[in-house]
Amino acid sequence: MSDCIFCKIIAGEIPSKKCYEDDEIIAFHDIHPVAPVHFLVVPKKHINSLMELEEADTPLVGRMLFKAQEIAKEQGCAEKGGRFILNAKKDGGQTIDHLHVHFIGGKTLGFKMC
Ligand code: AMP
Ligand code: ZN
Repeated sequence: MSDCIFCKIIAGEIPSKKCYEDDEIIAFHDIHPVAPVHFLVVPKKHINSLMELEEADTPLVGRMLFKAQEIAKEQGCAEKGGRFILNAKKDGGQTIDHLHVHFIGGKTLGFKMC
């Protein structure tokens, strides 16, 4: 998608602090981290949000979660863990309309459902 920030990051048109990349996934540090560890795992395929997921994309989302926990461990969160977040569409607070998983860790987070 030509006007999508994450597609531009994937294409190398916008710089990012990459922490992982393969044929179908990229991960980079969030530009506005809310915790000592805060990165995003993003599919290279443009999918608007989890609400637009097709069944054929389910292995991709599984890999995104698997890579997220691997990277989280590399970033020092193996023992204490952290939070995996998927915001979807307006009511979910999604601001970038390209599917992504946040990982937030490196401190003990409070819990607020809404
Ligand atoms: P969401 O609210 O789930 O759509 O989250 C989008 C996230 O993308 C926010 O946490 C932003 O700080 C982050 N973000 C926006 N632009 C960039 C960028 N150029 N590089 C890295 N992270 C970004
Ligand atoms: Zn995109």
